[in-house]
Amino acid sequence: MDRLFRIGIVGCGGMGSGHAIAIKSGTGNAVWNGIIKDNNGYDSPMTTRIGEIMEVAGIADIREERREWARQNEIYVYENYEAMLQDDTVDAVLIATPNHLHKSMAVEALQAGKHVLCEKPVMITSEDLIEVLQVAKEKNLVFYPRQNREWDEDYLIVKKIYDEKLLGDVFDIHCRIMGSFGIPGDWRGKKEYGGGMMLDWGVHLIDRIVKMIPEKIVRVFCDAKYINNAECDDNIMVHLTFESGVTVQLEVNTCHFITLPMWSVYAKDGSAEIQGWSCEGKMIKKITTYDSDVVPVLAGSGLTKTMAPRTKSSIQELPLPRFDFDRNELYKNFVECCQGKAEQIVSTGHALRVLRLMEACFESAKKGETVHFE
Ligand code: NAD
Repeated sequence: MDRLFRIGIVGCGGMGSGHAIAIKSGTGNAVWNGIIKDNNGYDSPMTTRIGEIMEVAGIADIREERREWARQNEIYVYENYEAMLQDDTVDAVLIATPNHLHKSMAVEALQAGKHVLCEKPVMITSEDLIEVLQVAKEKNLVFYPRQNREWDEDYLIVKKIYDEKLLGDVFDIHCRIMGSFGIPGDWRGKKEYGGGMMLDWGVHLIDRIVKMIPEKIVRVFCDAKYINNAECDDNIMVHLTFESGVTVQLEVNTCHFITLPMWSVYAKDGSAEIQGWSCEGKMIKKITTYDSDVVPVLAGSGLTKTMAPRTKSSIQELPLPRFDFDRNELYKNFVECCQGKAEQIVSTGHALRVLRLMEACFESAKKGETVHFE
């Protein structure tokens, strides 16, 4: 049998340690600093047993506390990143350091002959990504963006509603990620380290939506707020208009003590909502266009028939479609790409488009106007 594919992890904080345990356990179950055993109490079947295809060669981290954590978990600790790169048994490097280090670490790894799996946001600018991709091309190595959220169940549900027109043609989608703690007090709150919510969560939301709607984007508007942090965006709203007229609103908020559903989907024949990551929610589909039983309701100091609630007989409540999803498919695809057996599911061209779209969002937020894209 071929030996297992060996990956070194640089940056063994929240995400790096999650990767280390996920790969080491062989199952892919996510952990955060070794504390959480699964994601918010739910888990996925993990049909891909990653222990059968790859193993952790070791970690490198500048903090002794994280190195000690690795030793306690029987994970090899390299003296430093250079030592990891010099290890001939290492096939690839997984970069899980703060965002501003992704570029230099990716270039170093590629120049040392290692494939790269790089955490999102893969780079801070599209220019940086172009430079890194040039090195990957020269060295004939894989650079793989770890944009992992197209495997999330909430997204798969919305994608099915959209693709299969379960409620008719979708015309508007809202996706909201809401918290109330502000930006964490680490590097995420500092601009020089690539902080801010656009680069942290905006990237995930943009990544998925542009994959789901494979159309030209004709207008971009972004509002960025700095409520509890003067230098990094801590609340963002992005409004995209696609060529067909479909609109999407993406929000990342860190100062919201009352949360709205994570997804609202509006289609010609109905609406759907998903409350949060555990994917509770529903679809409401219309049965009749005109509801003859509708009676006007009091609306403040007036009356309304237009906005009156529907009677039960004119609509149908349906459960959301559910999915068995496999978070490990990305790891598997990465390894197979490095072995020349597959094409990248998360392509570098896609990652570049996502970075360019984030740049358009920053431009719009700065100008306070809608900008054109593509
Ligand atoms: P973190 O601060 O918890 O961990 C970063 C680690 O990098 C720290 O342990 C730090 O000591 C180490 N580090 C810093 N400089 C280093 C250097 N020069 N050499 C070696 N180690 C160094 O941050 P995090 O939350 O784990 O985020 C890390 C990356 O993972 C970020 O790019 C983030 O965007 C990404 N991330 C991705 C997801 C996802 O779902 N894909 C989720 C969380 C974080």
